[in-house]
Amino acid sequence: MSSTHETRRTRAAALFDQSKSAELKLDALLVTNLHNVRYLTGFTGSNGAVLLFRGGRAVLFTDPRYTVQSHNQVDCAIVIAKGPLTQAVLREIDRARARRVGFERDNMTMAQFEALEKTLPVRTKLEPTTGLIERLRMVKDAGEIEVIRASVVSNSRALEAALRLFRTGMTESELAAEIDYRNRKFGAEAPSFDTIVAAGEHAALPHAQPGAAKIGPGMLLIDMGAFRDGYASDMTRMAHVGPPTPKYKRAYRAVLEAQLAGVNAVKPGITADSVDRVVRRTLKQHGLDREFIHSTGHGLGLEIHEPPRLGRKDKTKLEAGMAITIEPGIYIEGWGGIRIEDTVLVTAKGCEVLTPTTKELREI
Ligand code: ZN
Ligand code: ZN
Repeated sequence: MSSTHETRRTRAAALFDQSKSAELKLDALLVTNLHNVRYLTGFTGSNGAVLLFRGGRAVLFTDPRYTVQSHNQVDCAIVIAKGPLTQAVLREIDRARARRVGFERDNMTMAQFEALEKTLPVRTKLEPTTGLIERLRMVKDAGEIEVIRASVVSNSRALEAALRLFRTGMTESELAAEIDYRNRKFGAEAPSFDTIVAAGEHAALPHAQPGAAKIGPGMLLIDMGAFRDGYASDMTRMAHVGPPTPKYKRAYRAVLEAQLAGVNAVKPGITADSVDRVVRRTLKQHGLDREFIHSTGHGLGLEIHEPPRLGRKDKTKLEAGMAITIEPGIYIEGWGGIRIEDTVLVTAKGCEVLTPTTKELREI
């Protein structure tokens, strides 16, 4: 893995080393977002780490709790700081004679910023940056794609295993617990978000929380995902307890048609917002566009929600190697909701749906 992380750091440094734009002309970047730290070094510690890097040199600062772990995982220089990390980072900034040091504005508290700035050498300035490393993370390398694939496949296995145990009258919480348990059993570290199991009218809430409600007869929405080797999966499927009504069948087919239209639109060069438009247009043909109250999808990787966002405003051009979700849904208060979500990989020619679970109308 060592060369992978080194390659990533070289690419990241090239972003600001050779950049012509004033915003990016930095001597060094201070990385505080732990997902970015992991991406650039392999370090998986859940807190207490900061990375300072520039062209040729990267230093990971962490505390004594992570001495063994950091030496096992990381291939760049490591400083185990006995006191506050900020002080150790400042010493390195001073030593490197860095004048413009970028920091991640979305991942620094005011208190951290003030602590740094107060003791900064006079010649050094802190410059805010946004989404620098996240931009690199959008396009996955071959190793990441394999891990995402495995995460998606085991998430689908977990759904099947949990549904085999389903019986009418089970509560939403019970089914959600089975899903989480199976995901862990199949090799995941943790859910990638709180599992959604929403029965009947609850499905009208896009982010419903599973509770004591008994499932069935009627519609059932399940949105689930897990981190496996650090990478997220994300899938939504519907099931119907007992025979579905004609209204449900019609609505299900409309959402499925929109989902397939979205998937078919995905290819390198198309912008994220155009995929969203295709999905909306399809739902409009069924008179359901006003019931679609969120964006079509999102990137995923080390985080469950990453750029790009497949919504109305994101002009990001899709590129081969991006892993995204396509997840149209409709929500009708007092009736319920339908969402269908796959994880999709953008390929050189178009895309590949990674989620193996069937999208046929399902009765349980
Ligand atoms: Zn989801
Ligand atoms: Zn999603």
